[in-house]
Amino acid sequence: MTLKFGVIGTGAIGSEHIKRITNHLSGGKIVAVTDVNEASARNVVNQFELDAVIYPDDKALVADDNVDAVLVTSWGPAHEQSVLAAIEAGKYVFCEKPLATTAEGCMRIVEAEMKHGKRLVQVGFMRRYDSGYVQLKQAIDSNYIGDPLMVRCVHRNPSVGENYTTDMAIHDTLIHEIDVLHWLINDDYKSVQVAFPKKTSRALAHLSDPQLITLETNSGIIITAEVFVNCQYGYDIQCEVIGEEGVAYLPEFPGITTRKNAKLGTSILMDWKDRFIEAYDIELQDFIDSIKKTGEPNGPTSWDGYIAAVTADACVKAQQTGEKEPVTLAEKPGFYKNEKEVVQQS
Ligand code: NAP
Repeated sequence: MTLKFGVIGTGAIGSEHIKRITNHLSGGKIVAVTDVNEASARNVVNQFELDAVIYPDDKALVADDNVDAVLVTSWGPAHEQSVLAAIEAGKYVFCEKPLATTAEGCMRIVEAEMKHGKRLVQVGFMRRYDSGYVQLKQAIDSNYIGDPLMVRCVHRNPSVGENYTTDMAIHDTLIHEIDVLHWLINDDYKSVQVAFPKKTSRALAHLSDPQLITLETNSGIIITAEVFVNCQYGYDIQCEVIGEEGVAYLPEFPGITTRKNAKLGTSILMDWKDRFIEAYDIELQDFIDSIKKTGEPNGPTSWDGYIAAVTADACVKAQQTGEKEPVTLAEKPGFYKNEKEVVQQS
């Protein structure tokens, strides 16, 4: 069986995903597209020689009986309406982050999915599919480094555009750490706090950069995450988990080491797309394969989208108050609990 995709939003990541489903992955096919800018939809159909219908909007695309799964890659504020329409029609959904721009919107999606009765939605938090993070998780879950006590993370970009604002450091940048870390350490966040170190002269007047975010979990693990989006030298993602019995580091992105002019060197990537390119392939292949195999997607859930939204909101509040702000999550519904969590509860 081929999983037939309808794509809502054919901009940067939408066209990347169309390319990977069409040219690199197996078991998926693009059969419909839509974009508010019809010329953009037409361009991708021509560029990738798709046999796909171009629809005027998301509702018309979702209503197409030929569409099994909806890929939501429009801009964030449009996601909730498209995801809800797809659930209503009983279609699978792969939604790029954010699932919705508010915690309430994410909760509406959670409720709609539970009402439907089985998992339909996967959120595009691709770091869970990065081989480095997978190895870190194995080191934690196998108890190799003992109980995690602290985590130290770095998220640096060489530079950002003029429209990048201080709160985007949370909603667009830290959001990936927010998702991957609670998955990694099997814990939920309890509180967050944000500090602003001395500002780099490379940041525009409206942007506070860098930022240092502290997240504390229910069991007391303290995470420090640096976001520095004008670091100049490269796209640099670091993560170190300090456990009771040892320490585990996220591996550096592999590259050759050079010796020249009395210097030992390794290249650092400049573009985030290159850093996680394999993870994007693996996440979408897993979406296709797990639906075919089990009838449900296997990756980050609507509930994970909700956790990300609540935590990001608390971080933005903490940016404004300078105080430690609580992360107040609703109780996790049994619908979203994994086998381990169900066993722990009983
Ligand atoms: P983009 O290049 O601006 O693409 C978004 C596209 O969707 C644009 O063509 C836009 O048209 C269109 N669009 C907006 N509203 C729409 C609607 N209601 N129906 C149909 N099309 C609509 O942005 P992008 O960089 O691809 O990002 C898209 C989403 O992916 C964002 O939510 C972003 O956060 C997420 N993303 C995730 C990652 C990741 O690492 N997981 C990376 C990049 C992006 P106009 O340009 O005419 O407005």
